[in-house]
Amino acid sequence: MNRSASILEELLQRLPELRPQIYFKSALTALSHAMEDQVLATAEPSLIIASFQQERFYRQEAQRYRRIAERNDQVYVLAAPETDFANASEDYEKIAFDPSDSLSNEWHLIVINRLYSTCLVCRERRLSDGGEAPGVSMPLAADQTRRFEGTWTFNPQVCWHAADIMLARIADYRPELAEKLAIAQAQYLQDVPSNLQDVDPDPFAQRLTTYLQAGQYKLIKAYRSIALKERRERLVNLISSAIRQTLDPTQIFTVAVRELGQALQADRSLIYSCHSQDNSVTIEHEFLQQPSLPSLLNKTWSLEVAPIQAVMENLEAIAIDDTAQMDDDGADFASVEPAIDQLQIRSWLLVPIVHQGVLMGMIELHRCHSPDAWTIHERELVEAIAVQLGLSLIQAEAYANLGNLNQQLEALERTRSNLIAITGHELRTPLSTIQVCLESLASEPDMPLELRQVMLTTALEDAERMRKLVQDFLTLSQLESGRVEWHMEALSVEECIDLALSSLRARQRTEALPAIKIQVPDQLPLVRADGEWLVEVLSKLLDNACKFTESPGEVSIEAHRGDRGMLEVTVADTGRGIEPNRLEAVFDRFYQEEGALRRTAGGTGLGLAICRQVIRNLGGQIWAESAGRGQGSQFHFTLPVVPRGRQRGHSTGPTKRAKA
Ligand code: ADP
Repeated sequence: MNRSASILEELLQRLPELRPQIYFKSALTALSHAMEDQVLATAEPSLIIASFQQERFYRQEAQRYRRIAERNDQVYVLAAPETDFANASEDYEKIAFDPSDSLSNEWHLIVINRLYSTCLVCRERRLSDGGEAPGVSMPLAADQTRRFEGTWTFNPQVCWHAADIMLARIADYRPELAEKLAIAQAQYLQDVPSNLQDVDPDPFAQRLTTYLQAGQYKLIKAYRSIALKERRERLVNLISSAIRQTLDPTQIFTVAVRELGQALQADRSLIYSCHSQDNSVTIEHEFLQQPSLPSLLNKTWSLEVAPIQAVMENLEAIAIDDTAQMDDDGADFASVEPAIDQLQIRSWLLVPIVHQGVLMGMIELHRCHSPDAWTIHERELVEAIAVQLGLSLIQAEAYANLGNLNQQLEALERTRSNLIAITGHELRTPLSTIQVCLESLASEPDMPLELRQVMLTTALEDAERMRKLVQDFLTLSQLESGRVEWHMEALSVEECIDLALSSLRARQRTEALPAIKIQVPDQLPLVRADGEWLVEVLSKLLDNACKFTESPGEVSIEAHRGDRGMLEVTVADTGRGIEPNRLEAVFDRFYQEEGALRRTAGGTGLGLAICRQVIRNLGGQIWAESAGRGQGSQFHFTLPVVPRGRQRGHSTGPTKRAKA
């Protein structure tokens, strides 16, 4: 026997006048069920042959066939085995056909008894080959639209031939059934019936309609789920394209809050950025279905209510179908009640916006008129949008960071080129003086001794200026590039002032210093600073004060407790003062009022720039005050005071370390 031969083909060969039709799977399901029900409703014994394409289709009907077999002993069920379906004689005869048999592409049901005959003989028409096997993870709608060609009829002649062909196929698979099959032949297929029996079509038609309706209902459900999927994809696409078009989360949130509110028919939707430690947020994105509802726009929304707290802690969505059914015996409920009342929230959906385990924001949807349960699809949709919004926030943050870094780089680049230009000039000036002096000494051996001495002193002074310049320049570049390692400790400012004064006196042994007055109260709190750098700042300020104050001027150092946990130190002098419009400029690099060339007091013009860098790094501020030319100057700086509990046991003072 040729197992690849199609039953339908063979039937068409026997009955060439038969015109096959096209049936959708849903129609065949309804027809088969109606035919089976008709068997169950008939007292007359029948020959029943049912051929399922695969075991899984048979399994859905196995129970029905057991019931059918209770009253009929000529029942044959065929299927291509997938798990444990095998040839067996149980309640009915099972025939496991070879999966390569053309039967696995066909669907047959034949019923023959003395009152009527009916059969369905069909072959599946694959729309495209190489597709998925029927029924395997195929969406319902696609499964229902599978097409078959063949015939369904009450015509006894067609039924007789169909049964005859099928019995032969069964005999081929189960030769041991020869005797039983012969009985079937004798009992039901003795003569080819020539005319239709008188059957009442009404009950059959009614059953068929019921099954068709059921099929239709399944289809509607399938279409609904497709529509939902489409809506979800449309929404996700809309928001993704908003994300592609702009990096501004405000614009993205504006689109998302409106689209989500409309798509999910929420009375109110909110989207806001928040972090796990936030207690409240200001609502900037809200969508209201009706303007009459209380609005939260530009208002503060407390995050310290139970459901929001739970979402923030667990980073998982919460869907409250009916706020009136929330647990009302704990303190939790008390926290949430005002919010529910104020905003008339009846159903509440909260979905966190999370990126890599970090909370970035929240989506809230409220239904305000009557409680309306959130479906799993709605929740999944909002979760999908939350993922997109998380990405948009990260993207925006990364872009902003990039912008900041770019600005910093540009500023650094500007500083670098300025520095190169200025340093070049500052170094060239003393270098040319040294060169001129040395050249004159070399080329004029007869130069008077006195003049030689002047030349040598000038060259040496300029060499020293260059050394200081290079040293200050290196210090400043280290500070600006953040390469300094800070050793913060609790320090007594008074001790640091003493150290700065002794180093000043050691350096200026030859020159007369103006009178220096120290006004530091006894109970001054300790400051938190790096001692070595603090002494450096004090030395530079004292140096300047002495340098720009001619006798009989006076220099004073004063310290007192300032506000906001800071200590303020002032180095004041009665010297030449600073013009009001120069008070900020003095902190610029290489700023020197008279210009380096005409300077008499010495110095590099980098001292105050270094002081500002140091004080800022220690957490304080530095500024200059002066009533103007000839009115003296005051340089103030602040430093953080060590908290009260840690005031004792300060370091013995700044230890001298080699600067990195
Ligand atoms: P310099 O090495 O030139 O002193 P600084 O950066 O320390 O460099 O100071 C920059 C400029 O600020 C000085 O050249 C001077 O013009 C002005 N200046 C600084 N301290 C005083 C002061 N106590 N009185 C008047 N002018 C000052």
